Amino acid sequence: MSGTSPGKCTVVVGCQWGDEGKGKVVDVLAADADVVARYQGGANAGHTVHAEGHEFVLHQIPSGILHPGKRCLLGNGVVVDLGQFFAEYDNLAERGLDPRGRLGVSARAHVVLPHHKVLDEETERVGGRKIGTTGRGIGPAYEDKAGRRGVRVGDLLDSRRALKAVAASVEWARSRLRVLGADPDLALPGDATLDLGDAGANLERLAEVATDVGAEIADALAAGREVLLEGAQGTALDVDHGTYPFVTSSSTTAGAAAAGVGIGPTTISAVTGVVKAYTTRVGNGPLPTAFDEKMDARVRRLGAEFGATTGRPRRCGWFDAVLARYSARVNGLTGIAVTKLDVLDTLPEIEVATAYRLDGESSSAFPPVAADLERVEPVYETLPGWQSPTSNARRKTDLPPNARAYLDRIEELAGAPILMVSVGTRRSQVIHWE
Ligand code: GDP
Repeated sequence: MSGTSPGKCTVVVGCQWGDEGKGKVVDVLAADADVVARYQGGANAGHTVHAEGHEFVLHQIPSGILHPGKRCLLGNGVVVDLGQFFAEYDNLAERGLDPRGRLGVSARAHVVLPHHKVLDEETERVGGRKIGTTGRGIGPAYEDKAGRRGVRVGDLLDSRRALKAVAASVEWARSRLRVLGADPDLALPGDATLDLGDAGANLERLAEVATDVGAEIADALAAGREVLLEGAQGTALDVDHGTYPFVTSSSTTAGAAAAGVGIGPTTISAVTGVVKAYTTRVGNGPLPTAFDEKMDARVRRLGAEFGATTGRPRRCGWFDAVLARYSARVNGLTGIAVTKLDVLDTLPEIEVATAYRLDGESSSAFPPVAADLERVEPVYETLPGWQSPTSNARRKTDLPPNARAYLDRIEELAGAPILMVSVGTRRSQVIHWE
């Protein structure tokens, strides 16, 4: 039971560098939920879900939408790319999953405008340091939000207010482009007249979906309904708790979930952390357990480790229990979901990092400075592989003993109980742990 309401409110959070398979886990959990809400990030999320015989890649809309009848919300902590939002909306409708009346967007959410994408690209191109962003304008939109010149969904509902807010944001973008030595006119592409970009074409539709997300969730919980709060990216990409500056521009961790939808923290009753059975990272920054080149190519192929948003190859490595334990603490995990176990099926031996060695000292702490994480040497424990397929397993007892032993060790090292293990891309390929 939630702190103050009869309904259950569960946060689902990534515990590595994103791409843990949160979309699949949310898709499975959404079967029992009434409301699914995102609390941060933008159209850089890129969940891939297999349902109804189709593959759906959702960047902006919560994957809960694939379950008919569920209400799906974007909280105030999300930055919304309206062009992407309505493109996904129309795509779902075309494929028979009509989202009408089931989608809500917080009037307090900020919007990503065309000049945010230009700023994102130009900052990466000429701005010196490369973070490896997805180039979707998320960072600049969050910068505008913190700089109090952002444009919110609620502003767009009044066209005069909208134009004023957009003009201020464009003016700032132009000044930034000048500082970067880029062409300021890039901030107003096309015919160089101020318009609302994708937002302009969608204003009427926006009025239909704008809502008070916090109030909706509070009402749902008061009525005894079940709510899922879906995180994007992962703990090691959190702007505070991740490998700064190689991080995303929002707080990804469970603590941000309450603020990102507009409910109190005592309302949250459970936090499920999603971990892949190994580790991946897309974009720049440290990855202590990175494989050597040969193994990297092998696991990338087995796990199809290419970004859903950018198509970029993900770097792969062994399971990092130092990070898992850190994530368990930072997020207050009440349980974990392990995904992509099947990807390890053919390996003769599997390693797990149990500690890091830095300057001759061994430690189980996740260092706060990325430059230190870059220098650590993982301390590995080697476990025997199982070398048999797991993708048809539906119960714990269907798994080979070595696979169970591996999962038991992950659970022990992470310090949170396993709730679910995923053994394939399909909705049915899941083992509910007891
Ligand atoms: P998310 O952003 O955390 O939702 O992760 P992504 O969707 O970017 O990446 C997860 C990818 O792994 C998707 O292509 C899923 O279809 C796939 N996936 C999820 N769970 C499993 C699993 O248990 N086994 C395999 N082989 N693939 C999985």
